[in-house]
Amino acid sequence: MPQPSLPARFEGDSAPLGVDLHMHSTASDGALAPAEVVALCAARGVRLMALTDHDTVAGVAEAGEAAIRLGVSLLPATELSTRWHGVGIHVVGLLPQGARGALAEGLEAQARAREARAEEIAGRMEKLGLDDALARAREQAGPHRPLGRPDFARALVAAGLVPDMATAFRKHLGSGKAGDVKAHWPALAEVVGWVVEAGGVAVLAHPLRYGLTRRKRGQLLDDFIAAGGQAAELVSGFQNADVTRDLARQLDERALHASLGSDFHFPGGHLAPGSMSPPPRTAVPPVWTHPLLAGVVAAGCDASASGAL
Ligand code: AMP
Ligand code: MN
Ligand code: MN
Ligand code: MN
Repeated sequence: MPQPSLPARFEGDSAPLGVDLHMHSTASDGALAPAEVVALCAARGVRLMALTDHDTVAGVAEAGEAAIRLGVSLLPATELSTRWHGVGIHVVGLLPQGARGALAEGLEAQARAREARAEEIAGRMEKLGLDDALARAREQAGPHRPLGRPDFARALVAAGLVPDMATAFRKHLGSGKAGDVKAHWPALAEVVGWVVEAGGVAVLAHPLRYGLTRRKRGQLLDDFIAAGGQAAELVSGFQNADVTRDLARQLDERALHASLGSDFHFPGGHLAPGSMSPPPRTAVPPVWTHPLLAGVVAAGCDASASGAL
């Protein structure tokens, strides 16, 4: 595949880079099938993408085939749920060699954790008046994908207990609410270890979305690095430019690489594949220049050809 030349550094250019390393499909809580996400990326000028479904790589094979057909570079990936000092932290694993070894086992454990967690969330939602909560969430999700909080949110809306998803999260499922069950997730450091051992790059997902102070965020970055983490999302969707510059300083101080992603879940919202705030001019290197990824990206992301899918 002829490779787009991606910039080796962030120059503060406001034109879209054509990179999106954080998106969801029907393999987790996204609305579009994996191939449809890839098609939308191709149509929107995204040249390098990663499908990052929650705790699974189930959509990656389908996405990989579509990516080859449509001339988009695809990195196999997943967004892993973890726990750090009582905070639910997400780690994107960019996996040029696919999910292997401890990570493959880890993903199986994550699927079991998600099931046990769904039962616990269901019990809590029943106390709030949602009878047969597990069956109702399953009805929302369909038969195939693992259950997540959005399925319970939709079930609460369908039962008329809340007017919309936003209210469902604000009152019952969001951070610190009854349905925010984190106890089943493994520790941040363990999950980072799985990604590193699989030859992948561990990326701290959306560091600005955990409600942490700057100091606490610094501690999170330090612990993440101590565990072997190599990068963080400098840009996740749309964010304030001053805050982004400040985050860039925190990454620069720690010699982390910077990733970017929309966190796209469904069409029609304010996010689309490839749409996000432009990264500022910074010395923090783009994650695609990381030694573990540079070869794969330059070779046209032929991870699928090398059997990683
Ligand atoms: P889970 O993976 O089961 O913990 O569910 C987390 C997912 O819920 C996130 O990845 C988002 O897709 C979704 N989510 C979180 N907060 C909200 C919110 N306030 N409104 C709508 N969806 C949300
Ligand atoms: Mn999600
Ligand atoms: Mn996330
Ligand atoms: Mn996400």
